[in-house]
Amino acid sequence: MTAILMDGKALAAEIKLRLKEEAEMMRGAGVSPKLATILVGDDAPSKVYLAGKHKAAQEVGIGLETHHLPGTSPAEDLVLLIRRLNADKSVNGILLQLPLPSHLDSRAMIEEISPEKDVDGLTAVNMGRLFYNKGVLVPCTPKGVMELLHHYKVTLAGSRCVIINRSALVGRPLMHLLLAEDATVTVCHSKSLDFLSLTRQADVLITAVGRRPSFTLTREMVKDGAVVIDVAMNRLHGKLVGDAEFGEVAEKVSMITPVPGGVGPMTVAMLMENTLIAAALQNDLKDAGVLK
Ligand code: NAP
Repeated sequence: MTAILMDGKALAAEIKLRLKEEAEMMRGAGVSPKLATILVGDDAPSKVYLAGKHKAAQEVGIGLETHHLPGTSPAEDLVLLIRRLNADKSVNGILLQLPLPSHLDSRAMIEEISPEKDVDGLTAVNMGRLFYNKGVLVPCTPKGVMELLHHYKVTLAGSRCVIINRSALVGRPLMHLLLAEDATVTVCHSKSLDFLSLTRQADVLITAVGRRPSFTLTREMVKDGAVVIDVAMNRLHGKLVGDAEFGEVAEKVSMITPVPGGVGPMTVAMLMENTLIAAALQNDLKDAGVLK
């Protein structure tokens, strides 16, 4: 079998073009969407991811306000900044780049972000909305995975979907999104037993472990003809790779995302969409395309 490559880079480019038109229409209605980003410290991968988000905002025509705090900043400094951005009416979205330095409590800092400006969808309020199928600002990576599945017309209702990840960033929100589309969802993690029997049942297998080489998704772990979404980003021998041993898995499945060029660009595109959704809701632009 030759797998179809699920091209997240191309789909993200299409989405960003649509969003650019949306942003233009918003400006025509007197609203200039703006995203504020916060980086604490100098984590090299975080800088790379953030640069990608800034570039996308420029492409879409979303205004940017970038904040960089020293890695030794006390929690009070970050809280003050977030509260100032919450109160600033010109800022529609606040992105706190994770991970934070270890002395800062990420959960507590995320909760400081006003849910209306929480474009990563990670506050308890936005997670709770998702739980009740009323998601408005939905976490970007799971949302990007769903967009890819829809674009490639993958059947979800009644399908068996297996997620290897239970984090708040990926696995848990994705579980809700898949359940909302009538999939049968299994969530696995590092303590799951009889792992192979679970992954081999998957019509749609979503992997987001990021522990290569100690964890590698190999051909014996997947069912013939499955759809594999590889969310993970691993550095292996200096190269960016996913969880899947790509060549051998691609021979067995019907569709697969590449790494890079799969879920990563979709995550960034969804962040842009969430920023426009936040701007539309804050300004009561009920007819905005992003709300439909
Ligand atoms: P995380 O919080 O460390 O979650 C990793 C998950 O993998 C956990 O649920 C963990 O189980 C599970 N796991 C670890 N070892 C395992 C094993 N041997 N067998 C089965 N499950 C195992 O990380 P994360 O923030 O969710 O990110 C996961 C990966 O996705 C990373 O590579 C990250 O870079 C990538 N990511 C990519 C994007 C993107 O835009 N492409 C966005 C976000 C994250 P436990 O819960 O039991 O520890």
